[in-house]
Amino acid sequence: MNEYSKLDDEMMEIDKLIANCKKCELWKTRKNIVIGSGSFNAKIMFIGEAPGYHEDLLGIPFVGRAGKFFDELLKSINLNREETYICNILKCRPPDNRNPSNFEIEKCTPYLDRQIMEIKPEIIVTLGNFPSNYVLNKFGFKPEKIGRIHGKKYPIKNLLFDSVIIPMYHPAAAVYNPNMKKILLEDFKTIEKILSDK
Ligand code: URA
Ligand code: SF4
Repeated sequence: MNEYSKLDDEMMEIDKLIANCKKCELWKTRKNIVIGSGSFNAKIMFIGEAPGYHEDLLGIPFVGRAGKFFDELLKSINLNREETYICNILKCRPPDNRNPSNFEIEKCTPYLDRQIMEIKPEIIVTLGNFPSNYVLNKFGFKPEKIGRIHGKKYPIKNLLFDSVIIPMYHPAAAVYNPNMKKILLEDFKTIEKILSDK
């Protein structure tokens, strides 16, 4: 068995674990579980907050309005979705897109942890406060408000993989805010620079 199919198998294991999950109450109101999409060999992983209305309907992350802008951001640095892996800290939609609760984050993030450990991305971009807080904390950094830390690089070195976490604003926050759009486009250039320096 080569490395690639081993990774496929591992990711299918995670799919199986998540399917039919009822570890928090969100299973009752979801239409679909949104596990993640893209390449298991991706160098870059994007982590959003939770599925919204359109994601819940289709079972795919970032397909609504924020997703359209997210695609623009990718295009601005000549990346397409297939070269990345995209997922969320919660796999089911919170009703009315309310914020994730601490309990939901605690119950759901073991899945995200497995996704990170299998994909071993070279760059982890966390989109917004919730994913940034979770991932920074997990890797031993002190989380701060996204307005203070967006675009900053947090290097990770451990036995399993070397990577860098880059917190950014959530694309949904930029949909009607041209200033924030500009900041996100700027912050995305950091990704381009890291990839071209490799
Ligand atoms: N917002 C998110 O955080 N994730 C999605 O998948 C869609 C919108
Ligand atoms: Fe399970 Fe996560 Fe969905 Fe809660 S949000 S039911 S923990 S998959």
